[in-house]
Amino acid sequence: MLIVQKYGGTSVGSVERIRNVAARALATQRAGHDVVLIVSAMSGETNRLLALAKEVSGDTLPEQRELDVVASTGEQVTVGLCALAIQSLGGKAISFLGHQVRVLTDSAFTRARIQSIDGTKIREALGQGRIAVIAGFQGQDEAGNITTLGRGGSDTSGVAIAAALQASGSKDVVCEIYTDVDGVYTTDPNVCPTARKIARISFEEMLELASLGAKVLQIRSVEMAMNHNVRVHVRSSFHDREGTWVVPEEKSMEHVVVTGIAADKNESKVTVVGVPDEPGIAAKLFRPLGDSGIIVDMIIQNVSSEGRTDLTFTVPRTDLQRARDLMGTIVDPKTIRTDERIAKISVVGVGMRSHAGVAQRMFEILAHEGINIQMISTSEIKISVVVDEKYAELAVRVLHDGFELGKA
Ligand code: ASP
Ligand code: MG
Repeated sequence: MLIVQKYGGTSVGSVERIRNVAARALATQRAGHDVVLIVSAMSGETNRLLALAKEVSGDTLPEQRELDVVASTGEQVTVGLCALAIQSLGGKAISFLGHQVRVLTDSAFTRARIQSIDGTKIREALGQGRIAVIAGFQGQDEAGNITTLGRGGSDTSGVAIAAALQASGSKDVVCEIYTDVDGVYTTDPNVCPTARKIARISFEEMLELASLGAKVLQIRSVEMAMNHNVRVHVRSSFHDREGTWVVPEEKSMEHVVVTGIAADKNESKVTVVGVPDEPGIAAKLFRPLGDSGIIVDMIIQNVSSEGRTDLTFTVPRTDLQRARDLMGTIVDPKTIRTDERIAKISVVGVGMRSHAGVAQRMFEILAHEGINIQMISTSEIKISVVVDEKYAELAVRVLHDGFELGKA
């Protein structure tokens, strides 16, 4: 097999931990596999580097090209150290920076997208019996500028490199994402003590959970895995137990109606009361938001009476003030109500496609606790409701219980 192992910042956070990573990679190789290591910067390092860049810039907005030059250095340190650690254990290893294996990206500094990767050098190294250690998070654009892939971007580096090697003919490729948690849970174990590690989850479900704020994987890495059919194994770097497999959808997944529950407290609610109920009004209201790059998530329009209607929608909390100001240029500001104390609770599962009554059950469970539902939206594999923020944890717990997610 060809195993791409990606280690996050905590997993390479000290010399001792780097030695563990080296030992693990070496053990994997000695078990008969080709091994490619992708590593992040030591934990806290990228923050430290970005803080330095900010400090030296003072009141001027730092140029993003230079931010990437600075931020990408954290990974240069860890690839070198990992290669040295493997060598000190008697193994063969060689380190590469992003540009050395031609991780070609667009030029969107600090959030670049990977366009292609050349696997030649990696294959060469593997052919010589070496472990290839590659810097995550970084690439290079057409013009040769250093780029980075956005915070948490080495997940995407790992999956992209696995995808590239798979596309160019490697059979049996797996991307292992090593982290400080055991895998993907049915919900946040800090909120719900009966939360359980999920053994297998589909790309689509994982994408929904990641978008809802489950922080185990960078969203882009899941998209990348889904688009290129790369099997991903999210697991702990502190022990050998199996974690969570993120894989193409399987028939048996349909039997499970709800796979996971997420709570998102980053949204806020805007209501515009008494807008004229006539063609083009929604288009007119939402155009300035779209033009300013504000992402509107849920929208509901109430039944109208006497030619007027109320329109309610959610935007990220960080964009609330801007959204309110923009709306105020179109309608009377007095007709705009906002509420930041909301939480979006979502249940996710591919089984919803073939099971009826999931929404009904969700509403009953919440009603039983006296939790009022303010908004509802659904997709093929997800039902989301907006509730008062103070009920977020309770809602997660009762839904987790009600859908029996704690049971294997
Ligand atoms: N070192 C980068 C960060 O802290 C990339 C990563 O860890 O995935 O965001
Ligand atoms: Mg990470």
